[in-house]
Amino acid sequence: MNNGWIAGATVVWRGLLLLVAVLAAGCAGTPVGYGQAGTPKNIIIMFADGTAPTQLEFGKYTARHLRNEGFAVTDIMLREGTLGLLSTHPANAFITDSAAGASAMSTGHKVNNFAISMTPDGQRHTTLMQAAKARGKRIGIVSTATVYDASPAAFSVNAADRGDSQAIVDQYLQLEPDVLLGGGADYFLPAKAGGKRKDNTDVIAAFAGKGWQVVRNTAALNANSAARLLGLFSDEDLDLELDRDAAQEPSTAEMTTAALKALERDNPNGFVLFVENENTDTAGHANDAAALMRALWAFDKAVQVAIEYQRSHPDTLVLVAADHETGGLSPTYAQIDMSSMSSKNRLYVDVARLKMLEGITLSIKGMAEKLGKKPTNEMLDALLAKHYPGFKIDADLREAMIKGQPLERNFSYFVTSTALSRMVSRQTGIYWGTGGHTVQPVAIGAIGPGARLFHGYQDNTDFAKNLQRLLGAQ
Ligand SMILES: [Zn+2]
Repeated sequence: MNNGWIAGATVVWRGLLLLVAVLAAGCAGTPVGYGQAGTPKNIIIMFADGTAPTQLEFGKYTARHLRNEGFAVTDIMLREGTLGLLSTHPANAFITDSAAGASAMSTGHKVNNFAISMTPDGQRHTTLMQAAKARGKRIGIVSTATVYDASPAAFSVNAADRGDSQAIVDQYLQLEPDVLLGGGADYFLPAKAGGKRKDNTDVIAAFAGKGWQVVRNTAALNANSAARLLGLFSDEDLDLELDRDAAQEPSTAEMTTAALKALERDNPNGFVLFVENENTDTAGHANDAAALMRALWAFDKAVQVAIEYQRSHPDTLVLVAADHETGGLSPTYAQIDMSSMSSKNRLYVDVARLKMLEGITLSIKGMAEKLGKKPTNEMLDALLAKHYPGFKIDADLREAMIKGQPLERNFSYFVTSTALSRMVSRQTGIYWGTGGHTVQPVAIGAIGPGARLFHGYQDNTDFAKNLQRLLGAQ
């Protein structure tokens, strides 16, 4: 063997290795096997609070059978991307709240329920947005809840209690998110301006003074082209999708589009964007299947916006994620009435039942607000006839509704509406196990550079560790 042959063989061998490497990397934007390696420039987290695979299956089935549409969360993010599952328990219990769930997913540390990225020893841990900012990235926070609600807060700042709304807003002013969109104007404004702040600070004016464009309705948001944007569209949470006034409050997809438009301006180091749909959790607490269905469809439209962005910007990692399941959603079969336990007296969730859900025009929360604390039979009948066509309320549920009694100890949210929810369950087969959160693991879908890190059955703290690793913070 002479040296020339060895040199030639080495060149061929190197060429083969390069070919294998190119094949393994796959085409740009197309995940291979367990997903792509690499480091993303931009990260988009699409977060549906209170959703686990049952909710996603519900969104997929109803989108297909009621709208003849696909469902991007399952059909693209989970099917074509990297699929993972997360355990969700907090430091001090089996069941998590949103604060502890998001804190673990932001910092990589377990905290007690109600804490915002602060461990029981009082230590403040670096949040995902703080880490992103420290790496020179632009940051955006979007929520259909108040922007200072538990999940967006835990991804951004630190507080002993999720109820420290004013302190959370004060920290936002220091953190300076380039984009901040959602509800919650109340803790940005002092009492004299109609807000709830206990000092005299007008935080909206403070952001404007620092150069942020301020928008307060959908048209202003959609027309905006500023690089730094504060959008507060309601004093408190934005409405459920089922009840939303589209002129006043933008959809999750519109907010996602606006956030991406702002963040990609002047973006040499990339951005991290967190988009939360909180309606999915609120609908779960109210055991409101119709509101959940609409919220899931609205979330999916926003996920489609993120996927389209990823396709035109393959250096972007898109994640679909959640913090816990809400409501113990249980579409099932049950007896039509209690006259017989025969299988002939059984109701299965089918398209006809789903069409009944589609016919509902006001959320259970909206119904409870209209009925007030002292509902009457006349009010109830009139509202049901108007907003719940085809539904009839059984005598036992009517009595509970009028008396304002919960049906069980595990239905503590929206007490006057649990009977309405059970009315819908009895006639559609879509039951619920609780008014609170459950321990169902949540699904993660990932597409883009770094997606492979999210594969498999992980802990919610791993989600943060993966992200902070991709940011180079760990
Ligand atoms: Zn919740």
